[in-house]
Amino acid sequence: MTAIIAAGGRGVRLGGARPKQFLALGGRPILQRSVDAFVSSDRIAEVVVALPSDLAASIPEYLRHRGKPVHVVEGGERRRDSVANAFARMSGDADVVVIHDAARPLVTSDLIGRTVDAAARYGAAIAALPVSDTVKRGGADRFIVETIPRNEVFLAQTPQAFRVDVLRAALAQAPGGDATDEAMLAEQAGHRVHLVEGDPRNLKITTADDLATAERLVAGDGANGAQMLRIGNGYDLHRLVEGRRLILGGVTVPFERGLQGHSDADVVCHAVTDAILGAAAAGDIGRHFPDTDAAWKDADSLVLLSRAAAVVADSGFTIGNVDVVVIAQRPKLLPYVDQMRANLARAMHIPVEQVSIKGKTNEGVDSMGAGDSIAAHAVALVRGSGVIFGGHSK
Ligand code: MG
Repeated sequence: MTAIIAAGGRGVRLGGARPKQFLALGGRPILQRSVDAFVSSDRIAEVVVALPSDLAASIPEYLRHRGKPVHVVEGGERRRDSVANAFARMSGDADVVVIHDAARPLVTSDLIGRTVDAAARYGAAIAALPVSDTVKRGGADRFIVETIPRNEVFLAQTPQAFRVDVLRAALAQAPGGDATDEAMLAEQAGHRVHLVEGDPRNLKITTADDLATAERLVAGDGANGAQMLRIGNGYDLHRLVEGRRLILGGVTVPFERGLQGHSDADVVCHAVTDAILGAAAAGDIGRHFPDTDAAWKDADSLVLLSRAAAVVADSGFTIGNVDVVVIAQRPKLLPYVDQMRANLARAMHIPVEQVSIKGKTNEGVDSMGAGDSIAAHAVALVRGSGVIFGGHSK
């Protein structure tokens, strides 16, 4: 199953210089939240994102190393061109394609699953909401023309899902004007489109008010439960030996010995990697980067940390802060701490203010105190969105 995220629009109505899909919602870009929802869905095997052409050249980091294929294509002039470009980029083995607006970051796994199931059954299906207000058709003169029975009216959302043959036929129609959704193209191609029960929280962010509403939902004072905060703990120790460089937090520290290990033996990176993975209950460093795997021989542990941060993001969590204690009798670490913090922050895509590193001696006691080893302890806080994950046991 392939997901297409339509982010090709240049809507800057929210006043920022950047298109609205790149604005932050609860600390994560709107586009990232939309992509995260599909990457975390066990129904989806790959994601194709259509970005505005001038932005497709510099792909945001959160669209890389996602644990599932995420492809980026350039959007087109019209929405249907963006979707057609993404459709052409899909790998050949999907039977159903689900299309989603990047501007609806609060989509849930349940809604994705419902829509996809209905499309597999009926050929085409969209999420849609019934209306509770009385519906009037009005004229250009702002007088009512008629009252429309409201049980015949639905508000279309995305996801919108289609069997591949249905979407191909819909997109292949004579190129007229644009369509505001893909269901419209399928209707015009003569396909019946099933209406799946949508989700009122799956709102489309087009105005500053929408963004404020979404912020409240994400912060957890909406209807769907509290934001989840979780803590993780990491520890590592390596022996100091002759003939190795000493690398701590990605900094090569001048010293007569270095840490022994399969990778670069960077205890700071290893402790932090285990802390963030632990907070997400996503295993540990040994599971993701086994020292029996030649790929990690002499590996740069900042790269491992960066991969672990992507695993944490794929699990639906945003890294809050990280605090590290490094226990080394010698050398003095203070001159290198700021560079280490910057390295760790860059690898985890968080501000450097959220990373703390403290050096300690071990008062001459034990192997650390005798200068035979260096150890590091780390804690990390992560937060999950109560909207995407609240109420589900994922
Ligand atoms: Mg280690």
